[in-house]
Amino acid sequence: MIFKKPIYVNVSKWSLLPPPPYSGITIYPFVIISYSRAMSHKWFTWSWLHKLIRHETIHFFQMQKEGLIKFYIKYMYYTIRYGYDNNPYEIEAYKEQEAYGHLPITLEVAVKEEYDKWNS
Ligand SMILES: [Zn+2]
Repeated sequence: MIFKKPIYVNVSKWSLLPPPPYSGITIYPFVIISYSRAMSHKWFTWSWLHKLIRHETIHFFQMQKEGLIKFYIKYMYYTIRYGYDNNPYEIEAYKEQEAYGHLPITLEVAVKEEYDKWNS
């Protein structure tokens, strides 16, 4: 099944997420964010939270482009081989999340921009 955009879930319990400082995870078609964890970071800003949401949204579109099974296998392989920081999917997501600068955009706009970009 194809989802046009992620289903965003805000969890208050942190147990679903990777260990801190990670405050989001994408389990297709869900982008799971813990606002409470994100906001507890000492470096928290709203633009950082937007970037986090955008980062996870980019993973959603990577999954859609690559195919779910292929994405997860390659993601695990890359992480084992290169480590999290040098995983090409992470490099792309960290680069893309910065592409729009620090504009105080809404979640809806962020998703639409990513959708248009990945589907053009
Ligand atoms: Zn990531």
